[in-house]
Amino acid sequence: VRYADGKGWYDARVEARAPIPMDPAAAVLHYAQEIFEGMKAYRTADGGVTMFRPEANAARFADSARRMAMPQLPEATFVDSLRKLIEIDREWIPEDEDSSLYLRPFMFASEVFLGVRPANEYLYVVIASPAGSYFSGGVKPVTVWVSPDYTRAAPGGTGAAKCGGNYAASLAAQAEAIEHGCDQVVFLDAVERRFVDELGGMNVFFVYDDDTLVTPPLTGTILPGITRESVLRLAQDAGHRIEERPVSFADWQADAASGRLREVFACGTAAVITPIGTVRFPDGEFVVGGGGSGRVTTALRQQLIDLQRGKVADPHNWVHRVI
Ligand code: PMP
Repeated sequence: VRYADGKGWYDARVEARAPIPMDPAAAVLHYAQEIFEGMKAYRTADGGVTMFRPEANAARFADSARRMAMPQLPEATFVDSLRKLIEIDREWIPEDEDSSLYLRPFMFASEVFLGVRPANEYLYVVIASPAGSYFSGGVKPVTVWVSPDYTRAAPGGTGAAKCGGNYAASLAAQAEAIEHGCDQVVFLDAVERRFVDELGGMNVFFVYDDDTLVTPPLTGTILPGITRESVLRLAQDAGHRIEERPVSFADWQADAASGRLREVFACGTAAVITPIGTVRFPDGEFVVGGGGSGRVTTALRQQLIDLQRGKVADPHNWVHRVI
């Protein structure tokens, strides 16, 4: 779908994947006015197809657009664009439990000019592509690298928006994590370099021995994950106490050593819920919860997967049946 100031959204179409012709002066190539979402369509046991909370992705897309001075795509257009792609051929959606159809809606500034101002023309596109599990080896605890040098987002910046530029800025840190034999980078806050913000592509939860779940608050430097919000509700439903408050890296280490911290997990659309087993940093490493997948992590993961596949009751009306 295209957008031009004064004209609104127009020229919606579905076409086979092909290159998008791009002028060298297209605004996105110079000033990175680009936002996106990452979502999945799942097969259900009865052969149907579901999406999980697409309205929440539409709302986050709208928030990202506002932050990046881009036009608003109506929620109905966003959700319909995904539905239409999925409805073309349900065979696109893999049937096995570890796989799904990954959906990547994105919007970028296509106007041709070199001045620095919000563009007046945009293109909104959705890519659909089958995807397997995020971490090779299925659900095993991952090792994370706490970046000593890089931060992901500063107060007042674009950290709460899902824009391409945030990921460009985090690639060096993610590469550093891989060099240290880790699966993901952990970012500390940009001001004090003390509190845990999030992972490269996931939010983080801490599970204490009194069954309290703690996750860092949405202060503007963290992406408001839809899985994060869903986990908060599911944990509350299950009778856990939940707290959104800062957790320092020093406390993470001390509470893991004392045993007070039982489990730590990361969550996001790509990997659902993944236990964090080992935490590595320049001075050493430590293990959480014996390095395995804990009881709470395992239960929440299964519950979320069952919900997304339409296997259990859906009290919050999160599951959007497409076919
Ligand atoms: N944080 C970052 C930086 C991410 O890229 C993602 C993935 N979108 C998440 C958190 C998790 O968000 P969600 O649960 O909506 O996938």
